[in-house]
Amino acid sequence: MSDNNIPTDLSYILNEYAEDREQYFNAIAPPIVQTSNFAFKTVDEMRHAFADESSTYLYSRGLNPTVDILRKKLAALDGAEDCLVFSSGAAAIFAAVLANVKSGDHIVSVRKPYTWAQKTFDVILPRFNVTTTYVDGRDINNFQEAIRPNTTLIYLETPNSWDYAIQDLKAVAALAKEKNIITICDNSYCTPIYQKPVDFGIDLSLQSATKYIGGHSDVVAGVLSGSKKMIGKIFNSEYLNIGSGISPFNAWLLIRGLRTLGIRLEKSTATTQKVFDFLQSHPFVEKVLFPFDPSFRQYELAKQQMKGSCGLMTFVIKADTLQQIEKFCESLKHILMAVSWGGYESLIIPKCAGIKPNYFNAAKEEHRMLRLYVGLEEPEYIINDLQQAFEQYL
Ligand SMILES: *Cc1c(COP(=O)(O)O)cnc(C)c1O
Repeated sequence: MSDNNIPTDLSYILNEYAEDREQYFNAIAPPIVQTSNFAFKTVDEMRHAFADESSTYLYSRGLNPTVDILRKKLAALDGAEDCLVFSSGAAAIFAAVLANVKSGDHIVSVRKPYTWAQKTFDVILPRFNVTTTYVDGRDINNFQEAIRPNTTLIYLETPNSWDYAIQDLKAVAALAKEKNIITICDNSYCTPIYQKPVDFGIDLSLQSATKYIGGHSDVVAGVLSGSKKMIGKIFNSEYLNIGSGISPFNAWLLIRGLRTLGIRLEKSTATTQKVFDFLQSHPFVEKVLFPFDPSFRQYELAKQQMKGSCGLMTFVIKADTLQQIEKFCESLKHILMAVSWGGYESLIIPKCAGIKPNYFNAAKEEHRMLRLYVGLEEPEYIINDLQQAFEQYL
């Protein structure tokens, strides 16, 4: 699957790399090879496929030509030798973690990782005698202190997608290498365009492709990138065994999404700055959390390891009651109240939607948090919508 010379030119990766148009009538868009299985001419060819499914088209739970094009492009984007594409980001997390623990092992995870990563650590793995310690990843010493002789895995997510807490990837990777521990980083926030964990020495980089890679809110998928050796090992066991690979059609949608990834990110990033400025100076906003805000606690580290910041930010609204926050959210006319992000449409999630009304406490800053995703609309369109919702709130 992988090339030794990983291309780095973004336009080349998105527009041409891994495509071979002469093979399919010089069609500009690659075909969706919507087949479950592949035929052989000789028994010997079939024997070879049985012996090593990672080298031959046999069955689409393993290799598929449309998925191959996508894999090569996504691995190159990550600066990695190889990658696997899953039917969700959660599936990529599960395969990556499962591949690197056995009974009796210990994991050090950054605190508040993605919900379903945390459920893997808290609910599933304890059944197999694998335990997890959570640390505040903003301080490298916390990793150092949490590591035990049986620690085999360090799990990172930087920045976090609610409070944007950042881990120093280079420092964690160096510490892990010294102790022979595998590192995994959830890179969903940045995408490989703004941050390449593998470049900092992280073993496995993963992201939810549902977000910016797909970009149109119409496909759920996940990516896991790393060395040819590590990805090959996961392909032969977890990937084939769990059977959570992406379908050819969804792979094709992601290839289509990739064509405009650069320009969508640029647009979303530029608009985000304007929306940030608006919220930052709004009298009803107590504070805004955003990693590229010069007053953000880890701004220097953000600048150092991230090339840019995407369209997510969290703001704390001034409110005395739950009803005020509900009124604000329900007054928005264009910004949709929905989970996920990375698509064309702006979205909002109030933290209080995850809190039982009786437990709501306005004194707690966290209860008044709203996570905003800035989509591809014009900045005025988004700002005006927020402004009119603030006015309702009065
Ligand atoms: C969405 C998300 C995931 C999970 O991806 P799915 O494609 O929804 O399974 C993992 N990590 C982060 C940070 C995410 O935002």
